[in-house]
Amino acid sequence: MVIPDFERETETVVRKALKCLGNDEESLEASFLHYLYNTFGRHLQSPHYYLFKALSYSVRDRLMARWRDTWLSHYQAGTKKAYYLSMEFLIGRSLLNNLLSLDVEDPVRQVLYRLGQTLEEVENAERDAGLGNGGLGRLAACFMDSCATLQLPVMGYGLRYKYGMFRQRIQNGYQMEDPDPWLRHGEYPWEVQRADYTCVIPFGGCTRMYKEPHSGRLIVHWDHDEEVLAVPYDVPIAGYQNQTVNTLRLWSAASVEDFNLSEFNAGSYYEAVAEKNEAESITMVLYPNDANESGKELRLRQQYFLVSASLQDILKHWKRNHGADFSNFSESNVFQLNDTHPSLAVVELMRLLVDDEHLEWDEAWRIVTQTMAYTNHTLLPEALETWSVSLLRRMLPRHLEIIYEINSRFLAEVSMKWPGDEQRVQRMSLIDPNDRVRMAHLALVGSFSVNGVAELHSRLLREGLFRDFYQLWPDKFNNKTNGVTPRRWLACANPQLRELLFETIGDGWMTDLSQLARLEDYIDDQGFCQRWRQIRHHNKKRLAELVHQRTGIVINPEVMFDVQVKRIHEYKRQLLNVLHIIHLYARIKFERPIHWTNRCVIIGGKAAPGYAMAKKIIKLIHNVANVINNDPEVGDRLKLVFLPDYNVSAMEVICAGTDLSEQISTAGKEASGTGNMKFMMNGAITIGTLDGANVEIREAVSEENFFLFGLHAEEVEQQRKTYRPAAVIAGDDDLKLVMQLLKSGHFNRFERGIFDDVVASLTSPHDPWMTLADFRSYVECQKRVAELFTDEAAWTKMSLLNTARSGRFSTDRTMREYNDDIWRLTPVEVQTEQLPD
Ligand SMILES: *Cc1c(COP(=O)(O)O)cnc(C)c1O
Repeated sequence: MVIPDFERETETVVRKALKCLGNDEESLEASFLHYLYNTFGRHLQSPHYYLFKALSYSVRDRLMARWRDTWLSHYQAGTKKAYYLSMEFLIGRSLLNNLLSLDVEDPVRQVLYRLGQTLEEVENAERDAGLGNGGLGRLAACFMDSCATLQLPVMGYGLRYKYGMFRQRIQNGYQMEDPDPWLRHGEYPWEVQRADYTCVIPFGGCTRMYKEPHSGRLIVHWDHDEEVLAVPYDVPIAGYQNQTVNTLRLWSAASVEDFNLSEFNAGSYYEAVAEKNEAESITMVLYPNDANESGKELRLRQQYFLVSASLQDILKHWKRNHGADFSNFSESNVFQLNDTHPSLAVVELMRLLVDDEHLEWDEAWRIVTQTMAYTNHTLLPEALETWSVSLLRRMLPRHLEIIYEINSRFLAEVSMKWPGDEQRVQRMSLIDPNDRVRMAHLALVGSFSVNGVAELHSRLLREGLFRDFYQLWPDKFNNKTNGVTPRRWLACANPQLRELLFETIGDGWMTDLSQLARLEDYIDDQGFCQRWRQIRHHNKKRLAELVHQRTGIVINPEVMFDVQVKRIHEYKRQLLNVLHIIHLYARIKFERPIHWTNRCVIIGGKAAPGYAMAKKIIKLIHNVANVINNDPEVGDRLKLVFLPDYNVSAMEVICAGTDLSEQISTAGKEASGTGNMKFMMNGAITIGTLDGANVEIREAVSEENFFLFGLHAEEVEQQRKTYRPAAVIAGDDDLKLVMQLLKSGHFNRFERGIFDDVVASLTSPHDPWMTLADFRSYVECQKRVAELFTDEAAWTKMSLLNTARSGRFSTDRTMREYNDDIWRLTPVEVQTEQLPD
């Protein structure tokens, strides 16, 4: 493969252009002041946001050469590339991460200090890029970080929502949603618009079949009646202190009218403006549903928009280098589908290859099924996507035809293997009895690899949800346990711990997290344990400050910080936590115990705006908190705070300042969890059920260092049929008292009846989450936690072991496994050409 001439010619020029960008204090200061004064026209007393922006531009400049070198090196290497297709990338802030990757944190800190500023204040002015709901979106961001660090040629494709995850505000205990204007001050400093790679996305219309005059071949033409432009914005993803800068390409919708001004002059001004708004609405807002499908037409438009733009982009690139020869396409490209959200990629790639490139169906299907890989993220039935045939016929008529064709060929294969098994054919069909397309089945049929995200989850997929498919294609199935990136979730989130680790075990753990195991040598080192505690205490003060800032509540960093932060959902069982808190409150009031472990329970998370029960849980937490926190008899023994607007940057402070990590979902419901891993890495101890990755966390840290309670996944399913909450309450005096307090209106004196629905769901024999079934076991387990917390040395040791044994939960390990088992990419060393003298 050759470098195009212009690339070679400009090489020297580019090097000259970059020569002024040193990483020393003087050059960094010059860049920073240049942007601040000369580009943005501000000064050092301007709001911190401008200092942040000037600094980010200075940093971004220093990523540009590596970014370009990475493009060229990938191009020259000519090796296989992977594309991570995801509707969500929950990035959070990027400044500190990029400073770390470039190894310029210290000089930048010095520069700011000399200018009378602090790096922390400037960092805090960055808004979170909240282009995701929770775990699934954050996972995509961690994956991107690890791929760049491992020098894997992986590109992310997503959507540039104008409004990301809503901001949560609390009014009288109720969640209010405010739009998140993360792009307000102009643009996002980390992105670069690449309008030259704009694509046209077709929608609607009908299809027509005709015979090609020369060959007599049947060709289908899609007569679409609408077009929308997809404009790419590229975000650099810097590897940790290597030369790699990978690309996250986010598509933004624009109207063709913007580029076609003649329409305006043709007198249809109003229609043109309306059409423009309709086009732009596609990437206007992220759907704020987590673990729930929305079923909205606009959501399907978003999904197709992402898939079509990304595939067109990749095919365009392929054809520039290979012409219309697709025979080696599947050796050079692989797509990872982050849940079923981008599963239309299976159909769109068929359409592009068959209709536009005129490949035979079988050849196209071979390419599709050798390049698509699907990751499942949930077993919850309410989260499984289906789209009605009628909607597809209206929006994507050609795609519906292709789905029917895929389905008829697939079902023929099923009938061949299980002759006469009509029920199995029905169960496996891509179309359900209500004439809706099952997107998970489409992804399963179209992919060569299907994976779950923790051992337990993958097993439950094979044995339950995807059982029929597993019987047909056992070799497609595999597990890839999730992880988190240690750069953000340890080094950035916990700078003091990072320094302590550097001093004691060196810095190898930054790219090989298993090296944290060396910490075990220090387990009996008094001095080391002392410093461990000091750092944890410092981090708890930071968290207490965050709580004070956001709620006005003062909490005491000496008490146990018991934390549950994650999306609010019944399956995650924030209610079980609340029941325990009410139980502790009742004990303080009625038992007046002498031995007591003071604790502050912190709960945070957003409820989907349409999820009434989740919103009611937030209200309940606030009402219980009001009663407890204002009772002078309770004092420091128990505090409850709801921390509003939980997001990535809040989690960075939270996970470092937590003693006890609550991972208490109904067993069999949480696919993996990743919050659990962030806490563990930072030395929190977990109280949890045998669910998702908790199982593997407990194995890694060993059972005596994990607080386990509750039913197993199998027991949950067995006991479901005979579950009688009334009998559980009758047999447990503590629970009886808790339920009485709830029912009697103790926490809603002046708001009668508002928690009736909560009580009804807890006491229903059909409660899918079986919350009361785990109450006793949870309370007993919490007693052991409280006991251990009074033994400072024992707690410290357990905390240290949690960090030391968290090495497996790095996304570096996860990405290596994806690469070894699914992608088969060769890491690419990025070549930096020498500067000409
Ligand atoms: C890690 C993370 C999550 C996922 O948390 P779980 O406890 O695994 O559900 C959700 N939201 C944010 C902001 C996170 O950082």
